[in-house]
Formats: sequence, structure tokens, C-alpha cells
Amino acid sequence: MKWARVALLLAFACRAQASDSSVSVGIVTRLPGPERVVALTFDACQATHATRLDRAITDFLVARGVPFTIFMGGRFARDHADEVRALAARPGVSIQNHSWSHPRDMRTLTDEQVRSEVAEAADELERVVGRRPTLFRFPGGSADERTVALVEAMGYRVVHWRWAEGDPARSIDADMLVAQTLRRTRAGDILIFHINGRGWHTAEALPRIVDGLVDLGFRFVTVEEGLAVR
Ligand SMILES: [Zn+2]
Repeated sequence: MKWARVALLLAFACRAQASDSSVSVGIVTRLPGPERVVALTFDACQATHATRLDRAITDFLVARGVPFTIFMGGRFARDHADEVRALAARPGVSIQNHSWSHPRDMRTLTDEQVRSEVAEAADELERVVGRRPTLFRFPGGSADERTVALVEAMGYRVVHWRWAEGDPARSIDADMLVAQTLRRTRAGDILIFHINGRGWHTAEALPRIVDGLVDLGFRFVTVEEGLAVR
């Protein structure tokens, strides 16, 4: 992929002036190409406290035939194995890697700890989902060149977002989610919501978001599809 190489070189070239250690090299923040596609992505984060799969979201998207991508923690997959297995069998559902234990900031981990977070989650996801993940999203988006390079060396693309919905904030209600999404979404955007019970108004907003984006001429793809076809 030529564009990725160019981005990589530019990122390295800019590195000398960059003082922000969170600036990194290979993070995908939008899908390439001019086509009017958008990827709905949902984080299924689980650290130490139990979380749940927000079935109102999955039931709606599956019923509507809208493809989507979930970045799922290994612990989440382990604790919700039956639900996740059934969901993964539906067409258009892509389940990807979001670390084993959702560390607060993976930049503070050693190389070995980073690899272990990724590998343990991958093993669990493969066991539950039946497919090996190919994409990785850092918890909280906290990554730097070292951690991104480690994850890429394991064969992954790192996938974040161009702008965040902020749905873990209770104050962002469904009307606000709908309005900001329809105003801010551009071709190739990767929208990030939460599907672990912490996206407080996401399920309520989603039908209007999907209808609104369709009205604006967008087509939904999984992240894998968006990265592969163009
Ligand atoms: Zn997360």
C-alpha cells in the first residue's frame, strides 16, 4: 500500500519537531479512497469491572443488515463467549482486538507486556469468534511509535478514529450524538462508539444516525472491508 508508506515517511520526517509523544506512525484514522463510505465501530472494553454486550445496538444493526466492527477486549470475549460467538456468526460483523485487560495506557508497558496484551486477546478472540483478528485499537487511543511498531510487527493494522463521538459521557444525549454525527462525518470516517453498556445514549441514537447517513449518501462497511477493497 503506497499511501501507507508515504504516511509513514512523512510521520518519521515530522518526528524531529514533534514534542507530543502520542504522535505515531501507522495509525489508521480514516479509510482510504474517495468513496462515500463510513465504518461504524464499537469498543467492547473490559478492564476489571464486568461489562455487558449492548444488545440493543447489535440487534438493531443486524436486523438492518448494517455491517459494523467491534474492537473487543479479551476479557470481554471470555465473559460473554456465547453472545459473542452467536453475534460473530452473523454476516457483516467484524470482531477485532482491543487488548486483553484494557490497560489504562499501554505506553507505560514493557515491550513484552504489550505483546502479551495483544496475543492473549487474539487467542481468546480466535477461540470464541473462530477468526484471528487483524486489526488492533489501543485502549483510550493511548499509543506511541514504539507501541504501534510492536503491534504492527505482530501483523496488525492499528485503527483509531478521526474524531470521537464521546458517547461514554452521560451528558452527550441522543440528539447531540445524531446532530454531531450528521454534521461531522466525512467520506472514509471511522466512527467510534461503545457497546459495553458505557455508550449511554448510543442505542437510542443509532437508528437516526444510520438513516441520516444513508440520506447523506453514505454506505456502511467494516473497517477490514474499507481497508482492503480500495
Ligand atoms: Zn476501550
